[in-house]
Amino acid sequence: MAIEKINSADLSVSTLQLIECAKKVMSNAYNVYSHFYVGAAARTISGKIYSGTNVENASLGLSVCAEPAALLLAISAGDPEVIDMAVVGGTSPDTKGGRVATPCGRCRQIIYEVSQISKTDIMLYCCNPDLSEILRMTISDLLPLPFGPKDLGVEKEVENYLGQLRSTISEDKK
Ligand SMILES: [Zn+2]
Repeated sequence: MAIEKINSADLSVSTLQLIECAKKVMSNAYNVYSHFYVGAAARTISGKIYSGTNVENASLGLSVCAEPAALLLAISAGDPEVIDMAVVGGTSPDTKGGRVATPCGRCRQIIYEVSQISKTDIMLYCCNPDLSEILRMTISDLLPLPFGPKDLGVEKEVENYLGQLRSTISEDKK
């Protein structure tokens, strides 16, 4: 696939909802150092949306981006199979226009790991704060020659992990 510029009028209601979740969480950013706001939302096969924001740290290097914040919530909820994500970022949630926010290099690797868990080339919607510009792409568009659990030969462990989660979920329902 290629990175495509798309019009919000061409997006489905459910994709717009995903993007709105990312936009909404931006205002919770703990960004006292950069004053940059990012919101990310990840939707899983269960249909649930997990959203996260950037959390900075005085060490700077220990800051957490919005994308892993959202993915860690999905994984912690036992719902790790992500199908698509939205990322919205800018100097304020109310900025008009501005550049589209895209995942940093580290986040691309983290999203790729989850894409192998999900067996899905995760679709990403990267947006500027007023959503006047939206780019659609997959994680493989953003991360050429990637490697993940499958490439390191732990596919079976990932399957066991997912099987364990599913059996825990079905036991909870009993
Ligand atoms: Zn990042």
